[in-house]
Amino acid sequence: MPEIDLHSHSRYSDGSLAPADLVALAARAGVKALALTDHDAVAGLTEARAAAAVHGLCLINGVEISAAWNGHNIHVVGLQVDPENPILRDGLARQAGARALRARHMADKLEALGMTGVYDGVLALAQSPDAISRTHFSQWLFANGHVSSIQQAFDRYLGPRKPASVPMPWASLEDTVSWIRAAGGVAVLAHPGRYPLTRTKMRGLIAAFRQAGGEAIEVATATEKPDMVQYLGRLSVELGLLASQGSDYHGTPAPWIALGNFPRLPAGCTPVWTAWGWPVDGLPACMATDVATGSVPVVAEALS
Ligand code: AMP
Ligand code: MN
Ligand code: MN
Ligand code: MN
Repeated sequence: MPEIDLHSHSRYSDGSLAPADLVALAARAGVKALALTDHDAVAGLTEARAAAAVHGLCLINGVEISAAWNGHNIHVVGLQVDPENPILRDGLARQAGARALRARHMADKLEALGMTGVYDGVLALAQSPDAISRTHFSQWLFANGHVSSIQQAFDRYLGPRKPASVPMPWASLEDTVSWIRAAGGVAVLAHPGRYPLTRTKMRGLIAAFRQAGGEAIEVATATEKPDMVQYLGRLSVELGLLASQGSDYHGTPAPWIALGNFPRLPAGCTPVWTAWGWPVDGLPACMATDVATGSVPVVAEALS
């Protein structure tokens, strides 16, 4: 079901495309239902929704919230959230404020190492001060010759305990899940295989997430190894959690990732979209490609 891509980023976080361009690209790639899941932001959803109506694509209101759990930075995706919900908006506003402050502190730290023009350079890459991500810092460091790759920017400067690292007051795992649920959404533990956790600790994380009201885990993402996808699929079945999938598309910061391109959900998983009434095997009949014209009927509003 590569037609359903439930994880993507726009310029409203650390993606390179405007929401309208992201949606247009998704439609060209054959994606029929796309969740825009910007980091700690829902500001891109209005533009994305308008573009989705033009392209006959179903836009799912999403967000990817940064959370703290046992000293780890965990990502929780919310799908089918109401972006106007005041509890969600309040929580995201606090995270965005912390991002804006962190950007200043990180720039100061890099300037103390002898670099110049850091803050203005990074801000020029971002939609707004409160959307500045470590991704923007990595791009600036690379573009200005301070590192030879994006990965090196994280390894040398931006990763945990590195010289430009600034600890963040991210909300607790429990709070992020509760904001998503308050906004009527489904909470999905993002890319469980990407945290520096043993399998035992990963199970502990998933148990805590479930206890907090989380309903799904991301099983199939673009950068996950096949054996991890199979393992997460088995875990989702064993623990009675729904299974999500998505590319985690960012555009130029991760050019090897394409919209709609990720492994299939392993057999036996219950896809997360069953939570909003879609059939197990994918899109509802009204979203199926019109064989005669090759186009998809405009049903974005009806399904959202
Ligand atoms: P932030 O939320 O601002 O702390 O930035 C986190 C983002 O940085 C993630 O969503 C990734 O897109 C990116 N990121 C984190 N670690 C790495 C890494 N080692 N290499 C490349 N990108 C990374
Ligand atoms: Mn990112
Ligand atoms: Mn993430
Ligand atoms: Mn993401």
